Amino acid sequence: MILPKLREVKEAVSSFFSKPYTSKYPFTKEPYKPVEQFRGKPHYDDKVCIGCGTCAQVCPAGAITITDDIEKKTRTLKINYTHCIYCGQCQEHCITETGIKLSNDYITAVFNADDKADFEEIQKQLVLCQNCGEPIATIDHLDWLIDRLGPKIYGHPLLMIRKQEQFMDIPESEVKSKLRREDLFKTLCPKCRHKIVIEDGR
Ligand code: SF4
Ligand code: SF4
Repeated sequence: MILPKLREVKEAVSSFFSKPYTSKYPFTKEPYKPVEQFRGKPHYDDKVCIGCGTCAQVCPAGAITITDDIEKKTRTLKINYTHCIYCGQCQEHCITETGIKLSNDYITAVFNADDKADFEEIQKQLVLCQNCGEPIATIDHLDWLIDRLGPKIYGHPLLMIRKQEQFMDIPESEVKSKLRREDLFKTLCPKCRHKIVIEDGR
């Protein structure tokens, strides 16, 4: 059948003289502009994010990791863009609503595994339990709660202590060998606080 062959030759010759349909990424003069609803790379807003970790818990792809460094008292939140599926769950469930947002940014290709285009991370200061040393929350998280709860914070010693710290430096006091009722007004995790109520009440 010579007819189909002629058609293919015609297509080949015409496409040789016409402009290509594809763009010469990444050498295009005008980068591609995605539509407004496009779901691209999620980015943290360091000023809004409080480091609560909800986004990591809801991420179905496990693209967000949380690493607590007890010695440095820091929490690192990291988005790995090679794992991200751009579902938007992190943005939807963010407790501050705008701590993380999907952007129009779609370039994830990198030449080097350590290249920053591959991931994004932010760091937050941690509050540790004065008795067991376990992380309780980030400082930003406590401050966020204080702002939202107003006078109700005086019902919780941890928030009360943090409120006081906003005005003055409070020297850290040591917990004695055994937790006692007097320690209730120290920076303690819920487990240690619970121990005082249960054990020192006997
Ligand atoms: S967009 Fe989806 S996959 Fe990507 S970090 Fe957010 S929750 Fe995880
Ligand atoms: S404030 Fe939002 S972005 Fe920050 S850790 Fe919590 S859920 Fe994630």
